[in-house]
Amino acid sequence: MDFSLSEKLWNQAQELFPGGVNSPVRSFQSVGRHPFYVSRAKGSKLFDVDANCYTDYVCSWGALIHGHCYSPVVRAINEALQNGTSFGANCPLEIRLSQLIRSAMPSIEKIRFLNSGTEACMTAIRLARGFSRREKIMKFEGCYHGHVDSLLVKAGSGALTTGIPDSEGIPASLSALTIILPWNDEEKLIAAFKKYGRETAAIILEPVPANCGLIPPKEGFLESIESQARAYGSLIIFDEVITGFRLSYGGAQALFRIKPDLTVLGKIIGGGLPVGAIGGKKEIMDCLSPLGKVYQAGTLSGNPLAMAAGIAQLEELQKGHAYQYLENLGQQLEAGMLEIQKKLSYP
Ligand SMILES: *Cc1c(COP(=O)(O)O)cnc(C)c1O
Repeated sequence: MDFSLSEKLWNQAQELFPGGVNSPVRSFQSVGRHPFYVSRAKGSKLFDVDANCYTDYVCSWGALIHGHCYSPVVRAINEALQNGTSFGANCPLEIRLSQLIRSAMPSIEKIRFLNSGTEACMTAIRLARGFSRREKIMKFEGCYHGHVDSLLVKAGSGALTTGIPDSEGIPASLSALTIILPWNDEEKLIAAFKKYGRETAAIILEPVPANCGLIPPKEGFLESIESQARAYGSLIIFDEVITGFRLSYGGAQALFRIKPDLTVLGKIIGGGLPVGAIGGKKEIMDCLSPLGKVYQAGTLSGNPLAMAAGIAQLEELQKGHAYQYLENLGQQLEAGMLEIQKKLSYP
């Protein structure tokens, strides 16, 4: 295989971007080779600038649940594009996407759209603190909630693969407000709430952590989180940026039948365009500006192209065939990997 054009670009990139990239995982540090440069993608295939073809198991980290250039999504973006790229004012597409999300996730009464999952997590934390007038946050080891200061403590994702469990530049006084819990450890959960519950604004979690491997919750663990949080008046924030519209149409909350106070969404709901969202109980959401005193704003929020892509993607998912198909594909992949594991006799 020829990688000469990718190599050339990679050499230029290292002069231009820190580590040659605009997001750390793209540096391929854990892959053991230089990154390739993508020229185009279609369905499950990626093509690099040297015309090599790859099967893409990543699909923009889950954002492209239908694969690349899915025609209903492309069509919707094209259509929206003819009417303008950003208005700095309201557009009807925001209403349609929020209705689709709300009907999929009944815990969401009101929504605010933002531009990334990170932004949505950041706002969720601020909102929980503003609503509860408490300062502490609980999160789980290995759960990634974007590069939010308060949440970039023992996070997964790039922070895990590049071996940086933490980040410089985060004041100790801020991370001191973040309590880290081990996932699936009920005893430590109860102990933490006993000690800090009354000062804790919210507990945030990926209901199925997907940024440090994939670790399903033990039977009853999500219920324990719920009952502890309720007992101490802390909010429950489900970060469904990956699980939302993925584990099921209604996300992890539908699958496990738990109603979080706030839900953070991203990736899939943007159909491959930059989007984040936070949604939840009306009385909490109404604390956001301009109604409430928790400030949040965004020049490109509710962007018409992103809304159009998200609507098209969710409308396709709503038809319902996708989840069984994904399950079948996943089972095939799992069986194949287990077989290879046996052959290689990994533990
Ligand atoms: C990707 C991800 C985020 C961050 O979203 P960005 O759009 O990359 O900022 C937050 N939480 C989870 C669970 C994610 O997987």
